[in-house]
Amino acid sequence: MAGNWKMNLDHVQATHLVQKLDWTLRDGKHDFAAVEVAVLPPFTDIRSVQTLVDGDRLHLKFGAQDLSAHEAGAFTGEISGQFLARLGCTYVVVGHSERREYHHESDAVVAAKLAAAYRDGLTPIFCVGEGLAVRKEGRQVEYVLAQVEAGLADVTPAQVASIVIAYEPIWAIGTGEVATPADAQEVCGAVRTRLAELYDEPTAAGIRILYGGSVKSGNVAAIMAEADVDGALVGGASIDPVEFAAICRYQSHVGAHSSSR
Ligand code: PEP
Repeated sequence: MAGNWKMNLDHVQATHLVQKLDWTLRDGKHDFAAVEVAVLPPFTDIRSVQTLVDGDRLHLKFGAQDLSAHEAGAFTGEISGQFLARLGCTYVVVGHSERREYHHESDAVVAAKLAAAYRDGLTPIFCVGEGLAVRKEGRQVEYVLAQVEAGLADVTPAQVASIVIAYEPIWAIGTGEVATPADAQEVCGAVRTRLAELYDEPTAAGIRILYGGSVKSGNVAAIMAEADVDGALVGGASIDPVEFAAICRYQSHVGAHSSSR
């Protein structure tokens, strides 16, 4: 379960959130080995989060929301993956729809950023997803598979085994609109099938595929019950530590889906 804070919370607020999240999860006897929990704060918060996680030996993982395709040099305002790795980041989001839309990140840029993440020893959370127009035309599977193939163009079989792919239909991000569990499964399942074709079955079976888009504690269990959904990338709900903890503890939710994963 990964929490994308987006451009929310300064470093002081980040400290409070991480402490509260950790306390809430420990209080609920969260099994971190069964469900990994990661936070993805703004760059300026990462040092504070690292200090807390290392100092208090928290089980939370952390990462960044973006990285530069470049290693170092005259790229004003950019953040290198090697800096993130030095800060102890495990993950880095690559190709989030907000980066693709507001920063015009093409599939080629996304592919270069994936390569940069691997170069610096970071695990990419590679985001793909269709907009509303594509969904209305029923072309979501072909659209997302094209994004997956373009992004993975230079990713080797050894590298891809550790990748995390997040399927995030853009029309469901921050809108309150959630894809149905069947919608999530349709695309996540197709992504896994394509991964098996591009690499091999065991590799595809081991890759973690997340769903993202208005995930909340009330809908997460049903989404997680789908065969090819291995986790969630959570935006808005991840900046409320009690709500995010409840999402992370989806296995304990009362209901038909609670025991299926
Ligand atoms: C996201 O930003 O990756 C996301 C899924 O946002 P939200 O949960 O707010 O829809």
